[in-house]
Amino acid sequence: MFKPFQLPSSPVAQIFRLEQKVYHMSGKQYEIELSTSAEPHIIMFEKATTLEKQGRKVIHLEIGEPDFFPPREVIDAMYISAKEGHLRYSSPSGIPQLRSALAQTIGKRYKVSLSQDNVIVTPGGRFAIYLCFAAALRNQGKAAIIAPDWPAYRECVKFVGGEYITLNTRLEDGWSPSDEEVSGLLDQGVGSVVINSPSNPTGKILSKETVQRVAEIAAQKGLTVISDEVYSDYVYQQSYYSILQEQRCRSILIGSFSKCWAMTGFRIGYAIAEPHLIKSMSKIQSLLLTNVPEFVQFAALKALECEDALRDNVQLMKKRVEKASATLSKMPLSLHAPEGGLYAFPRINKPGIDSMDFALQLLEKKGVAVAPGIGFGPYPDFIRITLSQRDDVLMDGLSKIGEMLNEYDRLGK
Ligand code: PLP
Repeated sequence: MFKPFQLPSSPVAQIFRLEQKVYHMSGKQYEIELSTSAEPHIIMFEKATTLEKQGRKVIHLEIGEPDFFPPREVIDAMYISAKEGHLRYSSPSGIPQLRSALAQTIGKRYKVSLSQDNVIVTPGGRFAIYLCFAAALRNQGKAAIIAPDWPAYRECVKFVGGEYITLNTRLEDGWSPSDEEVSGLLDQGVGSVVINSPSNPTGKILSKETVQRVAEIAAQKGLTVISDEVYSDYVYQQSYYSILQEQRCRSILIGSFSKCWAMTGFRIGYAIAEPHLIKSMSKIQSLLLTNVPEFVQFAALKALECEDALRDNVQLMKKRVEKASATLSKMPLSLHAPEGGLYAFPRINKPGIDSMDFALQLLEKKGVAVAPGIGFGPYPDFIRITLSQRDDVLMDGLSKIGEMLNEYDRLGK
């Protein structure tokens, strides 16, 4: 049974209210515990770990995390730098060595000239996104988001007191927004626009033309493009076009060591932007957490040198994603095969059944955790499946999803 609780009116309490709303969006009342997150995939993760603590075996396909570890040299670099005494407070924007190395690596990749003044090192891409909104939205209160989208964008915008509007792209269009839709979205008094390619949750890679269109309008209207490129190494189907290749508009690129280096627990990411934006973001970072631990930054610096390991990770994920897409395409689902990233976002094609229901049943009955579509916008009939598990675990999980779909069919639901 749904347990109501009284909430004080702090920003944190508002997040919990959002969580209640997420559950009510399904039009039903579910038994919920007080979760630490407003994001349904994290709520599912918490539910799954609670079941595990009770002795149930769970296949985790709800959280976006590679199952492999970072290269050994990365862990060694962290340990060595700690032993060498890199254990103090340091610069809010990051150590110069890492900022310069990122400027060089990313600059070379996209053939643009960057210096360390263009870079801030943050505790994960997530915090970089928060800093963007905190720095960029203060005087430009409305953000445009292309959905389906990673739920933290909306939550961050609301948390800093901004508003957002969304463009809801469609599976039938291969998740591509049309030119008219992009123009219509950016014509509504927004100060910034968020793009995410490869996308979480769909795996869509935005075409060069779409990125150019966004950049062109942003330049005309003086908007900031926030381009979340944390999955930019995981590209399987077409070439990748970064916002940095567009010189004409103001942009903030978000990057991370979490996904491609499997460094999720290190909590390290970065943003690349004009120096004055980097300064604004650094001031907020300094206020809130002083700096990212130096020994973690030295680990990230080493990761940039481990190019072979990165290539291996990308190859491994490509194989998994292709195999999973082939398996999913034989199921009674509708899917646009992921072109990059770590996820598939199929429609479950069960009229009258929303994906929150489906996800809860799947967890309860089959011990498989997936993320319900409502977390990513108005997509109640979709689920997000993370494909970054070992082959046998992933195939087992997918086959249980297939069994669950068949059971719904048998019951005529
Ligand atoms: N951006 C997207 C689209 C993500 O999916 C995630 C994590 O799932 C992040 C940013 C943040 O990752 P991290 O904070 O671990 O760098």
